[in-house]
Amino acid sequence: MDSMAQAFVSERVVTPDGVIPAAVLEDGGKIRGLCRRDEIPPDYAVHDFGNLAILPGLVDSHVHINEPGRTEWEGFRTATRAAAAGGYTTLVDMPLNCLPETTTVAALEAKRETARGKCFVDWAAWGGVAGDNAEHIGPLAQAGAKGFKCFLIYPGCEGFEMVTREQLERALPHVVSTGLPLLVHAELSGPIEQAATGLNGADWRQYQTYLRSRPDEAEWAAIRLLLDLCRHYRFRLHIVHLATALALRDLRAARREGLPVTVETCPHYLHFAAEEIADGNTLLKCAPPIRTRDNRERLWSAIWYKDIDLVATDHSPCPPEMKREETGRFDEAWGGIASLSVALPVVWTGMPARDLPLSDLARLMAAQPAVLAGLGGRKGKIAAGYDADLVVFDPEAEIEVTPDRLHTRHRISPYLGERLLGDVVATYVRGREVFREGEFAPEPSGMEV
Ligand SMILES: [Zn+2]
Repeated sequence: MDSMAQAFVSERVVTPDGVIPAAVLEDGGKIRGLCRRDEIPPDYAVHDFGNLAILPGLVDSHVHINEPGRTEWEGFRTATRAAAAGGYTTLVDMPLNCLPETTTVAALEAKRETARGKCFVDWAAWGGVAGDNAEHIGPLAQAGAKGFKCFLIYPGCEGFEMVTREQLERALPHVVSTGLPLLVHAELSGPIEQAATGLNGADWRQYQTYLRSRPDEAEWAAIRLLLDLCRHYRFRLHIVHLATALALRDLRAARREGLPVTVETCPHYLHFAAEEIADGNTLLKCAPPIRTRDNRERLWSAIWYKDIDLVATDHSPCPPEMKREETGRFDEAWGGIASLSVALPVVWTGMPARDLPLSDLARLMAAQPAVLAGLGGRKGKIAAGYDADLVVFDPEAEIEVTPDRLHTRHRISPYLGERLLGDVVATYVRGREVFREGEFAPEPSGMEV
């Protein structure tokens, strides 16, 4: 069965050149090409999906798998199952919240060891630029890390060190010589400390308190600092999880100037709005915080104008007790939202009304994240020579998010009960069916790419 060539047929195949009726021909895990239905060679097994859309398998360039070391939070097996159910075929793992953090080659090797035989989709790893580990940057790149992540502020979790401006400037020449991107959590502590002075005695059950504690200015100031450094060192700068629209003008100007800057936002910033978050609902705590409705609309507008390149989940699960739902205190709760299984319908739900078609969905959630991770020649597109990573998607289906749809280790999510547009019907990794209508492949077959 696996060795037999296959044709995936649909009226709506989402290719880089548009949405067309076609058969996607797969052989040996690769896309051999596209053809008309009546041109399928006779020895191909045909899967006809009718009017369901066939998208390139999604690539999530921002996932916290948390293994080794915090497998009780998530882990390769559960994260990659959740990914398969969500239409993701490649995950790129962040270097923190696991133990050891991926800041040395030995830690990367430990991660590979623990991932073996557990993955339902393909994966890759980011390395960390943390504290004074500059001498590990070159070796990590040599060993196969796809790029590097750093924090300009305390990461919210013991172990992974933030970098000061001085540490970052020592690291940047090493990053530049690898040619790989540096992904940055862009918040500075100055504006956050300043905001804290106005929060004495504030009620930490109120979402407004949390929002005021991490102001737009913290992101904006960090981004201005990073753009200055990018102008000086010319490293590939990637802003992860942009939450504030306030920084968009500077980012746009920097790109016009020719600086190598890319920008990501996340499903939760596009779906929720601060005005709608109930006090005590710590499931929606993340950093930077979900901002106003008006801010959300400006993020969508930036997507329309391509000032935001991609949407990644920042899937960051934790055990339920860490969300402190019993107290509802935002200062005590873990900041992180898990969304791998539902991110595709979450993002798609917002798109038709904003005049964004399926081809933009494929660009934002497959092609561009693949390019960021150096996988742009192999993942993220339905085109000849690419891996046959496909997701069969019903764009018109209406679903309600229920716990059985989550597939993460802990089935807690702020999306529970949300009504969304679109449903993942089946997911294929290198031609192999890994998920279909609620069922998973019996054996994991994902690999590091
Ligand atoms: Zn993250």
